[in-house]
Amino acid sequence: MSYKAEYIWIDGTEPTARLRSKTKVLPTGAEPPYWGFDGSSTNQATGRTSDCVLRPVFTCPDPIRGGDDVLVMCEVLYPDLTPHPSNTRAALARLAERYADQAPIFGIEQEYTFFKDGRPLGFPSGGFPAPQGFYYCGVGADEVFGREVVEKHMDACLDAGLAISGINAEVMPGQWEFQVGPVGPLEVADQLWVARWLLYRVAEDFGISATLDPKPVKGDWNGAGAHTNFSTKAMREGYDAIIAACDALGERAQEHIKGYGAEIEHRLTGMHETAPWSEYSYGVSDRGASVRIPWQVEADKKGYIEDRRPNANCDPYVVTGLMVETCCAALEKAGLV
Ligand code: ADP
Ligand code: MN
Ligand code: MN
Ligand code: MN
Repeated sequence: MSYKAEYIWIDGTEPTARLRSKTKVLPTGAEPPYWGFDGSSTNQATGRTSDCVLRPVFTCPDPIRGGDDVLVMCEVLYPDLTPHPSNTRAALARLAERYADQAPIFGIEQEYTFFKDGRPLGFPSGGFPAPQGFYYCGVGADEVFGREVVEKHMDACLDAGLAISGINAEVMPGQWEFQVGPVGPLEVADQLWVARWLLYRVAEDFGISATLDPKPVKGDWNGAGAHTNFSTKAMREGYDAIIAACDALGERAQEHIKGYGAEIEHRLTGMHETAPWSEYSYGVSDRGASVRIPWQVEADKKGYIEDRRPNANCDPYVVTGLMVETCCAALEKAGLV
């Protein structure tokens, strides 16, 4: 007897890495072992020393194939088993361990856009749909495009056991969001990458592609982000830690911007519910700030913050790593843990 393991990994495409996957048939009962691939075809090696190693880091049921089949999220190593430069998970693993005592958790809102025939789903050929206004959380065939794919994707994530916590239609036609979390940094990032793979895979069967392009349509159309909601134990217990985290993010704002996804300047313009990439701000209920403190958090004097800056095409290993590094170090220094 045998089962199928779909090995998924992140390639070396620049500036934004892409997902790759291939299937290994394994004897029933065997754990998915280390495996390899041709790094010269993924921008991760040259032809002469082409072997790269896949190390399984997160395994879940495969909701597409069903049965005993599994999805296996991997990190990429050199043949000597040191992390490949494209492997951003290795650094996050160190940070997560270093600050595990602060119990950081994340909920990431992944926005994305469906495309068909070279244009966003719901856009007429050679023109534009009615301006934005009624598409966000809309209902009806004139406002909502691709719901059958969204529903299938949500069910696939649930069947895989991912911590998906909701979906909604977004401000631009064909644009949607799903949320993963709140769970720890490695968990949210591993699961977000698998959820992205499932999105592409489910949409494939409908002849539709999904893109994480942060600004898929130029002009007066919303971009796509990955708002990252974050808390530590201290933030969940008191307001001083909430404010200290917001201030700490301001101290390293430009380092964060650099790690929040390619072409972030095209999305963080100060328009369309964003703050300009060059200026850091935070505020209660403020969807025009870099970081928002939800009103409930101010009322309760504890909870979490929302970093609204990360792009849809960000690497969640990098984003959560930056937030843990900046905020947890600051909370520790301020004696707030
Ligand atoms: P928005 O109003 O910004 O659209 P969403 O409902 O889409 O908000 O997303 C809010 C996210 O915040 C969810 O992913 C949820 O898991 C996450 N979240 C809730 N509480 C916490 C917390 N204490 N720490 C971190 N994330 C949290
Ligand atoms: Mn949301
Ligand atoms: Mn949104
Ligand atoms: Mn949000």
